[in-house]
Amino acid sequence: MSDLYHLFLRTEKEKQLQTKAWQLAEQFQKRAQHYDEQAVFPFENFAELKKARFLSLTVPKQYGGEEISLYEFLLVQETIAQGDGATALSLGWHLGIVMNLAEQKKWPEPVFERICHEIVHQQVLLNSAQSEAATGSPARGGRPETTAEKQNGRWIISGRKTYTSLAPALDYFIVSATIKETGEVGNFLIPKTAPGLQIEATWDTLGMRGTRSDDLILEKVEVDETALVEILHSPQAKGRAQGWLLHIPACYLGIAIAARNEAIAFAETYQPNTLPHPIAEVPEVRRKIAEIDLQLMAARHFMYSVADQWDRYPDKRQAMKEELAAVKYVATNTAIHIVDMAMRVVGGHSLFAHHPLQRHYRDVRAGLHNPPADDLTLSIVASRSFTKGNE
Ligand SMILES: Cc1cc2nc3c(=O)[nH]c(=O)nc-3n(C[C@H](O)[C@H](O)[C@H](O)COP(=O)(O)OP(=O)(O)OC[C@H]3O[C@@H](n4cnc5c(N)ncnc54)[C@H](O)[C@@H]3O)c2cc1C
Repeated sequence: MSDLYHLFLRTEKEKQLQTKAWQLAEQFQKRAQHYDEQAVFPFENFAELKKARFLSLTVPKQYGGEEISLYEFLLVQETIAQGDGATALSLGWHLGIVMNLAEQKKWPEPVFERICHEIVHQQVLLNSAQSEAATGSPARGGRPETTAEKQNGRWIISGRKTYTSLAPALDYFIVSATIKETGEVGNFLIPKTAPGLQIEATWDTLGMRGTRSDDLILEKVEVDETALVEILHSPQAKGRAQGWLLHIPACYLGIAIAARNEAIAFAETYQPNTLPHPIAEVPEVRRKIAEIDLQLMAARHFMYSVADQWDRYPDKRQAMKEELAAVKYVATNTAIHIVDMAMRVVGGHSLFAHHPLQRHYRDVRAGLHNPPADDLTLSIVASRSFTKGNE
């Protein structure tokens, strides 16, 4: 642990936060195989996160939270992911959304204040349900087929959302819907208790199985007027830079670190009878571990440096869209490569169902399909380079 963190833990607060996260991650690691095999939501992990008051880490101080920085958030995410990737990704949605709401101030203040109060005092959980079968990734700006209609001063919402992470554990769903009267797209804050709301267990996937990113069905869900918390303008990438999305690369780099540590531990102890020493002394094994560490260093220094810039220079945030997307591109692709290399070090042992590496191999794959997709990143990075065609 310490060798990978000594440069990144700059303050006493960061050290304490990361230590706390590591203590939780150690417990999560013990249950990760079970949650993955059974594809069940890690309720026990979330009970421990709630007890440790991790759900209010990004709530602003004025509402009783910790208001951690983006850099600190990434330290937490990367560390938790070393214990269980699915738990980290799920936690990241909740913490990141709250961080983003605090920064962008798009919700009516009394509503945000009430939700913050509930997070601080009851450790409630929320997440966005934006994806739909017809629109695909919301990052591409598709118009939701879920609709919202005003009737007698109340909203009636109908539709189906896909990929709703934490579905069985959420207290609130933030649902995007097209408003019938105006054609605008709005975000609606819907409590899990709203009649007509139902979860269909569709999440039977290759990786990130514990996130339970199930379908959310809304059948004439009736909520009051205040449920409309935000009108979404310009859903394409032209919107504001969103630092909170770096929780995604942090999660996948955490999984890569877990894979790297597995490979090193294996290499230090595995000694076939063809060798007078463990395979850690074989030059090719050392070369592979060195390659893993070089790639890890490059991806982590890039990610933490961009997060640090985000925290230090709020006035430069809008100019950081390309860097934010690039961090996700580099981190997720690096994580996939690192897990692959770690499996080559461990060899056939890594293929067995009980081995953590096969789980990491499947989990890191999911990173490609979290936003932004690689082709979108390449397109926005190219747009900054070419002045023509950007008008
Ligand atoms: C583990 C996990 C957790 C998730 N959690 C959530 C969540 O909590 N809430 C939520 O709302 N969503 C969530 N998502 C959904 C995610 O944001 C995407 O909507 C989903 O993964 C589908 O992405 P896609 O790129 O495959 O989209 P699709 O649109 O299904 O794309 C399929 C393919 O078509 C291509 N394609 C599609 N449209 C275009 C286009 N216009 N131009 C060019 N190529 C195109 C894509 O590149 C891709 O190759 C989650 C996804 C995963 C994997």
